[in-house]
Amino acid sequence: MEALLPGLVPKIRAALAAGALLCLTAATGSAAAGPVLIRDAEIEATLRRVGDPIFRAAGLSPSGVKIYLIQDPEMNAFVAGGQNIFLHTGMIDRMENLDQLRGVIAHETGHIAGGHLARRDQAMSGGRNMMLIGMLGAAAAGIAGAPDASVAIAAGSQQVATRNLLAYSRGEEAAADQAGARYVSTAGGDPAAVLDVLRILRGQEALMGRDQDPYTRTHPMSSERIMMLENRIAKMPKGKAPDPEDVYWYDRMVTKLRAFTEGPAQTIRANPPVDTSEMATLARAIAYHRQPDTARAAQQMDALLALRPDDPYYIELKGQFLLEGGKAGPAAAAYRRASELAPDQPLILAGLGRALLNTDDPGAAREARDVLSRATRLDRKNSDAYRDLALAEARLGNEGAAALATAERYSGSGTPRDVLRNATRAADLLPVGSPGWRRAQDMITMARRALKK
Ligand SMILES: [Zn+2]
Repeated sequence: MEALLPGLVPKIRAALAAGALLCLTAATGSAAAGPVLIRDAEIEATLRRVGDPIFRAAGLSPSGVKIYLIQDPEMNAFVAGGQNIFLHTGMIDRMENLDQLRGVIAHETGHIAGGHLARRDQAMSGGRNMMLIGMLGAAAAGIAGAPDASVAIAAGSQQVATRNLLAYSRGEEAAADQAGARYVSTAGGDPAAVLDVLRILRGQEALMGRDQDPYTRTHPMSSERIMMLENRIAKMPKGKAPDPEDVYWYDRMVTKLRAFTEGPAQTIRANPPVDTSEMATLARAIAYHRQPDTARAAQQMDALLALRPDDPYYIELKGQFLLEGGKAGPAAAAYRRASELAPDQPLILAGLGRALLNTDDPGAAREARDVLSRATRLDRKNSDAYRDLALAEARLGNEGAAALATAERYSGSGTPRDVLRNATRAADLLPVGSPGWRRAQDMITMARRALKK
């Protein structure tokens, strides 16, 4: 839950500010106030669990569709830049159960599968969304081994107008509803959940202008739309109750998001100590940590770990608490254990790297460098991990490798000028012909090309 930290946990921020690296991630990377993406290993895994059956039902490859979570209390969900679904935390918060959240994702998937975006990808959209597309396009291009595109897109995203997202037509809305209900049904769920979502959104119709959630503006609502879907669903099989395991992870996701976004006092009021259920304990652990009440947070965390001693995400959360509490050594141990239980989980590896860099152990820089290299190879979108990698390389005296990591960081979230400056420095310092040197040359070429445009 790193992205949640910037504005929300000022006390912890202040506590960390002395000496330690701040544990915050604004994934936009841009200096401008942009949307904040939430990066969290557990939540990303849960969103995959929720979305993948829908994508498969739609005939899409789950690995090709990405769900991004934006920290924003407004109710919104949209598709942009191809097969990227963006969900506001406010949308997750307002849905009453897993089926409904699946219904929202199914509706958006209906827009993807229906090709409704093709005609508006050019014309769209609000600065925030354009910035996201730029950033994610850059990251995606990097992964696909077409770094050429990445700098160009990152450059494009700097010059965005602030227009609104174009609304879908009523026909497209109806088509996405029907397709969404079909996907939910194929995935074994209850298609009526899609209808429930429409009924929740219908309450928004009466509101005007600024009071209206953005979702209602881009996905026009109408009584006719609801009636059409009612007719369609009446002819569909009823569907089963969701898998208890899916419901469990969904509950954890909602609990974690709320506990990190609502005020700690409010969270504790809603989850008083008398409630010893796992979710209430989790909510309190996070709330106490944010107050910060380290002792109580540790107590709740211990209770969770007694229930699930080998849960990598609970151990990771414990690592986060320890790191933000200034205990880098024990934090590193927790992250190391979590990464053994969930190997190749880049965000946990990035946490381990950060914890190691915060220890006083001079030998830790080497391990930090190794795990951060792995983290960034697995996830090129994590600009914080690149920043930490650069720091580790610098501590090891590898100025060339540090410059290369910084160039990589900017190629995902900065300007071509930043990429050019750092890649040039890397090329000057690294051995001619080495893989790092060649990568630096590629980035120099890309950045120059982007600057000419
Ligand atoms: Zn729609």
